Amino acid sequence: MMTAIPTGLAGAVLSIDLGALQWNYRALAKKAGKAECGAAVKGDAYGLGLAPVCRALWDAGCRSFFVARPTEGGELREVLPQAIIYVLDGLAHGQSEYYAKNDLRPALISTEEAREWAAFGRQYGRTLPCALHVDTGINRIGFSMAELKGLLADDVLRAGLNIALLMSHFACADEPDHPLNKRQIARFAEAQALLADIPTSFSNSSGIFLSGKRPESLTRAGIAIYGGNPTPWKKNPMKPVATLAGTVMQVRSVNKGETVGYSATWKAKRDSRIAILGAGYKDGIPRHLSSRTQTGPAQVWIGGRRCPIVGRISMDMMGVDVTDVPASRVSRGAQAEIIGARVSVDEMAGWAGTICYELLTRLGSRYARVYSGAES
Ligand SMILES: *Cc1c(COP(=O)(O)O)cnc(C)c1O
Repeated sequence: MMTAIPTGLAGAVLSIDLGALQWNYRALAKKAGKAECGAAVKGDAYGLGLAPVCRALWDAGCRSFFVARPTEGGELREVLPQAIIYVLDGLAHGQSEYYAKNDLRPALISTEEAREWAAFGRQYGRTLPCALHVDTGINRIGFSMAELKGLLADDVLRAGLNIALLMSHFACADEPDHPLNKRQIARFAEAQALLADIPTSFSNSSGIFLSGKRPESLTRAGIAIYGGNPTPWKKNPMKPVATLAGTVMQVRSVNKGETVGYSATWKAKRDSRIAILGAGYKDGIPRHLSSRTQTGPAQVWIGGRRCPIVGRISMDMMGVDVTDVPASRVSRGAQAEIIGARVSVDEMAGWAGTICYELLTRLGSRYARVYSGAES
């Protein structure tokens, strides 16, 4: 466990609005229609904190959760004794006991795993529930269609499995016109036909917004719950959940012609005022944000307006050009919004040449964390 860092002693404060998180969950559940809305909470709930996030989701009505690693499942089990928990990694070799003890359902990805889980169940005296993960075209993990058919033709193996869910995962759901979506939808329908009465799960956040799918039983919403845009081609329908505020350590005057930061990459074109914030790459601020990005300069919100990040991001700090902000509005102890309602995670990630998933999951451990707003 992390030691809590008091707000006043932290270089930056990460505020997580659990009310907005619950709002997002409910909006996605509504959008999912008749399907149950499950939540992907892998990676410490996308960096925002497994326990508080999952408690808030449970209170908003979420009952099915997807983690990546079995240990994430074990951690979640302590928080939510009654939740249904699927482990997307599948079955870790020789670890069935851990899954059984924590009531975790492996999303099996191969015949080998299926055999191991079935054999364990026989020894345990109960056919334990699992999901079957079929790969319909992303080509990462899961049964191929041929392997799935092979498994279903094996009566002994089939009898040893309690298949609670048939699932697959989209490769390009955030690009509705990508031809792979149609192919994956067709293949999943084929798999579904082989396992007629088994509940299904297909959609991630963007998948929920994708048309042309067969109805499914359970969605697996992730990034949209945390405020990322599931529809990148249009305005984000979700509410921002995470706000990262960097504290101003010092405001310094830099004369025209002087440079800021390591390697002297940024040079003042006028006499300038530079605010130094207490957040750096150790805190998950991508060093790629350092002034000269392709789409940049990256900006933060400070003193009532957007100001560009200047110079290299250091381990523990970063510089912002606040020359255009009245001096009275930016002084030691002031806060700059690095991500939040004014500068979205998607926008900041774009400046860093990455996606909001990576930005969120890499946020460091040195922030003071403030959780607010959950309703139960
Ligand atoms: C991470 C993940 C999800 C959630 O995806 P988002 O794009 O964050 O909504 C769903 N299914 C699987 C298999 C995943 O790995």
